[in-house]
Amino acid sequence: MARKVVVLGEVRDGSLRNVSFEAIAAAKTVAEGGEVVGVLVGQSVSSLGQELIHYGADRVITVEDEKLAQYTPDGYSQALMAVIGQESPEGIIFGHTALGKDLSPKLAGKLKTGLVSDATDLELAGGNLVFTRPIYSGKAFEKKIVTDGVIFATIRPNNIEPLAKDEARTGDVASLSVEIKDLRTIIKDVVRKASEGVDLSEAKVIIAGGRGVKSEDGFNPLKELADVLGGAVGASRGACDADYCDYSLQIGQTGKVVTPDLYIACGISGAIQHLAGMSNSKVIVAINKDPEANIFNVADYGIVGDLFEVVPLLTEEFKKL
Ligand code: FAD
Repeated sequence: MARKVVVLGEVRDGSLRNVSFEAIAAAKTVAEGGEVVGVLVGQSVSSLGQELIHYGADRVITVEDEKLAQYTPDGYSQALMAVIGQESPEGIIFGHTALGKDLSPKLAGKLKTGLVSDATDLELAGGNLVFTRPIYSGKAFEKKIVTDGVIFATIRPNNIEPLAKDEARTGDVASLSVEIKDLRTIIKDVVRKASEGVDLSEAKVIIAGGRGVKSEDGFNPLKELADVLGGAVGASRGACDADYCDYSLQIGQTGKVVTPDLYIACGISGAIQHLAGMSNSKVIVAINKDPEANIFNVADYGIVGDLFEVVPLLTEEFKKL
């Protein structure tokens, strides 16, 4: 059954986030040959419209307003509701990002439809569109079929392969004028902590440190390895609580959920709350002095040893590649 599917493209620092392209790939499956409409919301975002088309969108609608320069749930929901009102889509796909997690339930409520949140896969099986999503902190997966209403889903970053970029693809980028009013929150400025290197939630390689790194400086060998592999540094809550690093690096149940291609856990015991955020990584390597550490139960490769000896050795070896 061909469907029209709307996809929200997420913009950060003037560029489209990767998850936008993954969402288009998911939308193609939902559309079953129908139309995929990209949506860009913000200020001066229309120049990014063609890039969404290069990754598979058929056309793009932009809603631009200075009041949308920063994300607010009120402003974005007004913009999206106007697009949805105009397009009457049968499917809506967002990334399962901080923005997507915040906005999608609000819109689903307004649309009086259900929401499949945090999907890691979707496929057509037996004539049905079947979503897979982790439950119980990633210890099990459930399959979901939407039987009624708009198919509204958020997809977890780094799980669905984007389509290959095709710069020959063309499509219409049209603006929709929406009066953004009655905002209950106005963001005047965003003061960001200086973030180093790759965005943790979209990183393909993560080197994570736990209480075993023992100090702020103990993260230095992990940063060097991350630099060599083009990855990001993450942390357990143990390391954050001990003040070795910032909470923005925390991975787990109460931190970020990540699914990189490679996750190297250094000096992390593998508490269930940490596993909730990383156990779906494609390849997990654990480095721990304690052969009984729980992290080895989820690791594809385990190295029993001192991280301060093992990590620099790995860095030297990877430098040779
Ligand atoms: P530890 O458990 O102290 O482990 C340190 C490990 O380092 C040990 O296994 C030790 O053998 C090893 N080690 C020490 N020195 C070395 C060395 N030189 N070389 C190699 N290995 C070494 N935790 C999270 O991570 N994320 C969350 O989101 C999260 N949310 C939580 C939510 C709730 C409600 C609660 C109650 C807890 C949560 N926790 C979370 C905390 C969690 O239960 C653990 O306390 C925490 O993950 C432990 O961090 P850790 O593994 O770094 O420290």
